[in-house]
Amino acid sequence: PVRVRFAPSPTGSLHLGGLRTALYNFLLARATGGQFLLRIEDTDASRLVPGAAKDIQEMLAWAGIQPDEGPEQGGPYGPYVQSDRLSRYTEAAAQLLESGHAYRCFCAPSSAPPTRKAAKERMNRTPASPSSSRPENDDPSLSTIAPTPPTISDGRYDGRCSHMSRSDSDARARAGEPHVVRMKIPSGTSSLFDLVHGNLTFNHTSLDDSVLLKRDGRPTYHLASVVDDGLMEITHVFRGDEWLPSTPKHLILHSALNQRPPLYGHLPLLLGRDRSKLSKRTSSTDSATSSVSPTSASTPPSTVRWYAEHGYLGPAVANWVALVGWTPPPELGEIADLNQLAQAFRIDGLHKSPGVVNFEKLDHVQKAHMVAWIEGRGGPEGPGSGRALLIRYIQEAVEGEVDKGNILDGTWSDEEGGKVLDIIKPKVTVRTQIPRYSRPFFFLPDWSAQEALSLRSKFLQPELESILSNTLTLLEPHSPDAFHTAAIKSAFEALPSLCGASYNRCMTVLRWAVSGSGTGVGVAEMVAGLGKARVAQRLQLGLE
Ligand code: GLU
Repeated sequence: PVRVRFAPSPTGSLHLGGLRTALYNFLLARATGGQFLLRIEDTDASRLVPGAAKDIQEMLAWAGIQPDEGPEQGGPYGPYVQSDRLSRYTEAAAQLLESGHAYRCFCAPSSAPPTRKAAKERMNRTPASPSSSRPENDDPSLSTIAPTPPTISDGRYDGRCSHMSRSDSDARARAGEPHVVRMKIPSGTSSLFDLVHGNLTFNHTSLDDSVLLKRDGRPTYHLASVVDDGLMEITHVFRGDEWLPSTPKHLILHSALNQRPPLYGHLPLLLGRDRSKLSKRTSSTDSATSSVSPTSASTPPSTVRWYAEHGYLGPAVANWVALVGWTPPPELGEIADLNQLAQAFRIDGLHKSPGVVNFEKLDHVQKAHMVAWIEGRGGPEGPGSGRALLIRYIQEAVEGEVDKGNILDGTWSDEEGGKVLDIIKPKVTVRTQIPRYSRPFFFLPDWSAQEALSLRSKFLQPELESILSNTLTLLEPHSPDAFHTAAIKSAFEALPSLCGASYNRCMTVLRWAVSGSGTGVGVAEMVAGLGKARVAQRLQLGLE
């Protein structure tokens, strides 16, 4: 069976690129009936960010990516947090020492290479070129860059301790001399069939003897990741292109540990507009009530949490990000939920070159998901679940207003909430717009608020009175049971000639009277939704 994993290091909030990596792994598992697991790679204590592991798990869940196995779910291959399984790595390192695939290095830390050596690793491979550097050697003891020390040549450790005799090495270790364990890179080349890039060959002369176990006995990423991919029986790995330079080392380690390596697919970067990197900005200045499209941001935000906080729906963001770097088969439209994406997922649709994130498309995708949720066609747990969540969201907003001391005009029920949701549907793109648009259906307007006062100031008393009282008269004959939008609309058509004011001015006054606001859903829709009694009351109050 296919077993895939997402293996983030908890060094910060989940980014769109990480979400996409997780998603492709998840889709492959779902497409093949395999398992998707989440593994937290937290062995590098110096880079840990408190709360990051939690953020990553919350954001995956928000997007609808549920691991089959992981820290929260458990599973037969656990534990799924690397710091909880350190003995596996020390055992593997001992095995590698024993078999001669690794050796102890007693050189002083300052004589080891700088941490950003990944950038220096040159590869001899075809066809793509390496894309980025990343501090892949996570040994904190190596983090100071020393003047070229004697054990370094060309920025790389020269392997001098590999020539030490086994008995010398054992004796020095027994005497308690501090050391690291390094992998021994054999001469030759490694080849792999990359799921994205095709056949690649790496010359080992470009690789150095990376540290596997640090002085404190903790494993580096290379060791822990390879050991776990083996023990967890991972069959396929999609991960970022930045790990490509490490892949030959991983192949060497898998073979030294007598493990079958997974198939790797290295995903090109996600780029923002102008092919720049995405920003880490988490804007808190955007108003949560107006449209918050990231298209208006000069550098689009890259943390997944930004989208969650600004009212985007997880499955919509997943849909959108899946399409950056993957061309689905034509029968799948642009709008798809995770099940549909999984059914359509094919590895050969993945792109080889960096994907430019299309922010213009996000609101379109988001709107389609929002409409599907409102209409009961979608949701994180299947049809109907989205609508139920949105109704809960309105309820919370209503309860919040009540807590502030506002008095409910009417009564709350799920049915009432659903009715309002249907009315405000055309206005709502992101979830955070919902409280504003639904408020007038549950509370009397606040005519003393700034917005209401400035609307009111545009009308002289006689015009205002004429519009309100004529409306009351026009609506009077309508039965409360047949208080429908169409009937109300046609009644309103008589207003301009009755009042001597333009249709627009009439609507502005009515909107002010029933909602206190200058924006919102159509006036007739709002009036129909409020019902005859509440509208009559508000028009009366407006006249006073
Ligand atoms: N822990 C690595 C990261 O943070 C995982 C790389 C891999 O998938 O092998 O990206």
